[in-house]
Amino acid sequence: QVKNNGKNHHLFYDASLSRDAVEHFQMETELRQALSRQQLRVFYQAQIDLNTGLIVGAEALIRWQHPTQGLIPPGKFIPLAEETGLILSIGEWALTQAVSQANEWHHLHPEFKKIAINVSGVQIMKSQFADTVYGVLVDSNCDPSIVELEITESTLMQHTQHVVNTFNQLKQLGVSIAIDDFGTGYSSLSHLKRLPLDQIKIDRSFVKDLPDDKDDAAITSAIYAMATQLGFTVVAEGVETEEQEKFLQRLGCQTAQGYLYAYPVSADAFLQLLELNNQRKIKRHA
Ligand code: C2E
Ligand code: MG
Ligand code: MG
Ligand code: MG
Repeated sequence: QVKNNGKNHHLFYDASLSRDAVEHFQMETELRQALSRQQLRVFYQAQIDLNTGLIVGAEALIRWQHPTQGLIPPGKFIPLAEETGLILSIGEWALTQAVSQANEWHHLHPEFKKIAINVSGVQIMKSQFADTVYGVLVDSNCDPSIVELEITESTLMQHTQHVVNTFNQLKQLGVSIAIDDFGTGYSSLSHLKRLPLDQIKIDRSFVKDLPDDKDDAAITSAIYAMATQLGFTVVAEGVETEEQEKFLQRLGCQTAQGYLYAYPVSADAFLQLLELNNQRKIKRHA
């Protein structure tokens, strides 16, 4: 890679950048093969009803089981998947996995009634995204009302009209839509009102220092009040402590997700959590 050092306008060859470029290219080649080599995994993180303490749903979170590098988190390969367009096939695969898995869990454990699946802006921008979702729902014979698609607030701010049209089509299919990482972007209330949204997920960065940080406490309370008054349900992300949980319960927040309850786990491990969930329910009602 060629770099201009600015001052005397000499161009020089930067070996470290070149190594990065090679690694980048190698990762791209490997990511292209990851799907067919069955190296991608969908993990599931429990979503908890704060009134009952029971698991009521899950968020699907993708990982890459790399042959030499181990389990790679999505933050390390989703951006590359988006740049290369690979997110279209990877995203559709994750959607298919999560929907068919959730359909099975919902039938085994009716209290499990929501699967949240992250969707990239690149997928939304593809003209026929709603058709893809429709196809996945039909193939797995899944009740659309258990499916929730998560789109980050920053994605919403980028592409307006096409997003509105696609969301309307998705709503007609009967799936629900959540705004992920809410509070980290700068979307206006008028903008939100134009979209057929169901849920707001309060970003972990606001939850992290609750309840002591007065600013974060104020922001969380304000987001909660605004969201409920606009008719959205609210999920708090990244709940790690009982103090955070208590603050959210006092606020009236219905649903939470975080390491306090469960880490993202494999499908097999999640089914075990659901079975424990049932035993807990039996005990509580006894
Ligand atoms: P996200 O959708 O906001 O997911 C929440 C992230 O916070 C997950 O990280 C989760 O493991 C982590 N988390 C959950 N509870 C806690 C907690 O109590 N404390 C802390 N410190 N972290 C917590 P993960 O799995 O690394 O995913 C990162 C991001 O990658 C996700 O953020 C999402 O934007 C993206 N992603 C994951 N799967 C997919 C996918 O299938 N498609 C697309 N497009 N993006 C995905
Ligand atoms: Mg999410
Ligand atoms: Mg989030
Ligand atoms: Mg995030």
